[in-house]
Amino acid sequence: MLAAALTALLLAQAQSAPRAVPGDTAGYWQQDVRYTIRAALDEPSGVLAAAGRIVYRNNSPDTLRAFYVHLYLNAFRPGSRWAESERREGVRRFGELPDPYHAFERLGRVSVDGASAAPRYPFAPDSTVAGFDLPRPLAPGDSLVVELEWQSRPSVIPRRQARAGRRFDFAQWYPKVVVYDRLGWQTRPLYMAGEFYGEFATYDVSLDLAADQIVGATGVPVEGDPGWSGARATSSTPVTPQSDWYGSRPAAGALAAWGPAQAGRKRVRFYAEQVHDFALSLNPDYVYEEGRFGPTVLRTLYLPQDRASWGDGLVIGRMGRLLAWMDTIFGAYPWPQFTAVHRIEGGGTEFPMMVMNGGPGEGLIFHEGGHEYLYGILGNNEWKDGWLDEGFTSFQSGWHNQVGRPAAPGRNAQQAILGMDLDGWSQPLSMPAEQYSDFSVYNQMVYSKGALFFEMLRYVVGEDAFRRGLREYYARWKLRHVDEHALRGAMESASGQNLSWFFAQWLHGTPLVDYRLRDVRRERTSEGWRTLITVERLGDGRMPVDIAVPLPDTTLVVRAAGIARREVVEVATAARPGRIELDPARQTMDWNYLNNAEGVRFPFVGMVSLGRVEHRLGWSETTPARRDRRVANWLPLAWSNGAGGVTLGFQSRSNYLGRFDGKTVQFSWPTGLADDAVFGRGGRGRPDVFLSIRNPVRLRAERREIELAAWSLEGRAGGRIGVSADRSPRFGGPVRMSIGSALTVMAVTDARYLDRRRWNDVNTAELTAWAARSREREAGASTARVEVTAGQSFWPEALPSRGWINFPETQWPTGRRLSGATYARGLISSRYALRVREFDVRLRGVAAGTLGGTAVPLQRRIFLGGADPYATFTNPFLRSRGALLARDDVHYGAAGDLGLRGFSPVASATWGVAVNIEAGLRLVDQPRRRAFGTVTVAAFADAALLDRAALGRAAAADAGIGVRATHQIGPTRFVTRLDLPLLVTRPAAAVAGAAGDGAFKFRWVWSFEEAF
Ligand SMILES: [Zn+2]
Repeated sequence: MLAAALTALLLAQAQSAPRAVPGDTAGYWQQDVRYTIRAALDEPSGVLAAAGRIVYRNNSPDTLRAFYVHLYLNAFRPGSRWAESERREGVRRFGELPDPYHAFERLGRVSVDGASAAPRYPFAPDSTVAGFDLPRPLAPGDSLVVELEWQSRPSVIPRRQARAGRRFDFAQWYPKVVVYDRLGWQTRPLYMAGEFYGEFATYDVSLDLAADQIVGATGVPVEGDPGWSGARATSSTPVTPQSDWYGSRPAAGALAAWGPAQAGRKRVRFYAEQVHDFALSLNPDYVYEEGRFGPTVLRTLYLPQDRASWGDGLVIGRMGRLLAWMDTIFGAYPWPQFTAVHRIEGGGTEFPMMVMNGGPGEGLIFHEGGHEYLYGILGNNEWKDGWLDEGFTSFQSGWHNQVGRPAAPGRNAQQAILGMDLDGWSQPLSMPAEQYSDFSVYNQMVYSKGALFFEMLRYVVGEDAFRRGLREYYARWKLRHVDEHALRGAMESASGQNLSWFFAQWLHGTPLVDYRLRDVRRERTSEGWRTLITVERLGDGRMPVDIAVPLPDTTLVVRAAGIARREVVEVATAARPGRIELDPARQTMDWNYLNNAEGVRFPFVGMVSLGRVEHRLGWSETTPARRDRRVANWLPLAWSNGAGGVTLGFQSRSNYLGRFDGKTVQFSWPTGLADDAVFGRGGRGRPDVFLSIRNPVRLRAERREIELAAWSLEGRAGGRIGVSADRSPRFGGPVRMSIGSALTVMAVTDARYLDRRRWNDVNTAELTAWAARSREREAGASTARVEVTAGQSFWPEALPSRGWINFPETQWPTGRRLSGATYARGLISSRYALRVREFDVRLRGVAAGTLGGTAVPLQRRIFLGGADPYATFTNPFLRSRGALLARDDVHYGAAGDLGLRGFSPVASATWGVAVNIEAGLRLVDQPRRRAFGTVTVAAFADAALLDRAALGRAAAADAGIGVRATHQIGPTRFVTRLDLPLLVTRPAAAVAGAAGDGAFKFRWVWSFEEAF
């Protein structure tokens, strides 16, 4: 039924009639290239020796004076730009690979129009681009002939290309003509990021191979035997070479002209037209299957052990479904065949008419196979417009997954990309690939954000216009080079919208989008209801904003243009609209959904919305992050300690987007049950509270975190304000750096909770500054931390002794008299972990000390056995006297401070310098197992120099053996550790030590964390 009629609708989108379309093909040209190649593979050396002839016609309006080819296999060897970009990323792969193992592509004799020519290498020492000066200028419409001899060899470390025994994946194995387009010669070395851009060409490739080799390749076999008949999966498997697809165009007799093959060898000739690359894969063990999609033959070549995962039509079926899906999006597949081979490397790579995949998965086939259109037929420049290649492809396969399901744009991708946008790591989508700050930023931008670009484009123009636009894009541009203008032209023509703002914003900038539902006013009219919805644009990014207007029997969606800072949308309905919400389908990159829905109306603050909240019950450390709502996790709590007895409570932790509005609220009640009666019968009964808020949305800043906390908890009250900043040099780099500072006040309000061996009845106010750095290494990680604290302590009594800097006794407003002294505390530690096969080695060095003499309260001294009392304060099992894990008979070790694990947790010093070492042997290493993923036996030793007053001796050490195991409950991973510090040099101060103990004694300590 009609519940609504729109009276005044939204402001019209910024529309104007499409101009003389910028993206149509008028004036477009592409060069004409014909390769004729003869190549023979010597398997033992892995070298392909080849001779080729390239006929090149200049269709451009320019006169050319040089000619360039790519020798891409030269990327996979020392000295290349590729190796250099790996080195910058901390990857060691091709930079140091010695000669028999690295790849190469070496030119021999070269002639241009009959005159011998010497190559120039403009990016030397990189040799992936070679140039030749032309003997005569090549005028528009003229042709030239280049004859070349070369040798090429794939590398043993696979990267797209590879060799392994008798298996060969040849990608980019021939001198490939560099694209000349309206921007000139696209000479660009091969880097890790971005790769493909080629001239559409005809390939006539004759191969001389071992007679038993089975070949998968671009094109169709027109002479000789590719080996498929002998490799058929079953005797009924058809073999349809499609040799006659191109009619009589490949003139017969090329193999006959080459002469007969030697004994044990064979010759086979492939031919392809209108493709911009030619790949081949060889393996004498390949098994062959085929199928069909319309006129296209589908082929797969897999390994004998793949039968269950690739065979029996599994992969062929997926290839057929992929081509059917692409056909519905774009149009007919133009080529005779589509081949999927099981290559040496994992992952997958696309080539025209062919994908080389490491596995048979449908997702992989939809991705790599989708490239047949988005790269193969629509020939984009991947290293300049990766979004148009990988982004479009990621969108396409995601879209396929969405079909038949409720609209579910990539919210996880949105969340990940928003994190980068909000932290300033994002870079524009349209950029030369090697200019991204690092490889992981390139990947995130080009694949994930690129896919989101297409989701938003679909949202902006609507699904029908989007589909029409894609078909138009294909009809205009198939088998041509495409770019941003080609896609925009097709989309503008299909939608009737000017989309320059959209393409400019999302391809060339890094906008932040945030719309806020500012106000909603509902008025009764004679016909029903008139609702005025005010939308406010807070971000620099602009997107049309859908507005959901819920009605009793339906939800009306109207759209605001989203351009003005404030925009009023008026809706007339028969019934009273329910709660209004912006962007109900989460189709934009609006980073703050907390202000998108209608909230409570207060007189002076307008509408207050906290957004949607999802409540969960359970373990809180792993509270998930949601794209569009806060998640609050509720956890009942119970613990006990000596003063409060059994304590019951609950905790709520919440966050938005995994980074904002992290709130922790904890209430607990000491019941006095099973206490040690220091409070008398019935315990204390007063509730405790801990509150913390991290990173409120309003205080958002790039790579900065803020925390405010306050507590009144088990005889202590205090507060903390902390700020930290991520100073990592690169987004995905191995080095992480951060700095921070915090002001912490901790006052003792009830000393009966204190373990007086660890904590004086003294209040402190501390200002701490710290810096931390970690580095992931190939087989381990190193971390370092420096921390400096200036503190002021306040005694409730007269100072027990003089400190470093003393303050006069002061009377506080409460009438309490306090004395004060200033102290300082510092700690520097460095840790290194190394994994070599089944061995784990860990090393740690730490130096820590205090200044201020006896004015430093116990709780701020340096603890020998592990963490100091402030570090364990947030843990209710360690916080107070008599807590479960703090009891002397429990032998629990919390990691921290000097880390002398054989020593009592109450032993402390004013300074210490310690070394901890641990060597382990992994007996069990099954990361998938939850209960005991790894089990490691270890030998350890800890040694320290201390102030003489601490233990009466200037040195202390322990040594022993232990066992640790890793576990996982839900997403939480933890360790159980049992150490036996059999040798302790000061036995009286050892864990559970007693006067008269010997240095050797059976002692044990256990923990839920690694020692360091
Ligand atoms: Zn891809």
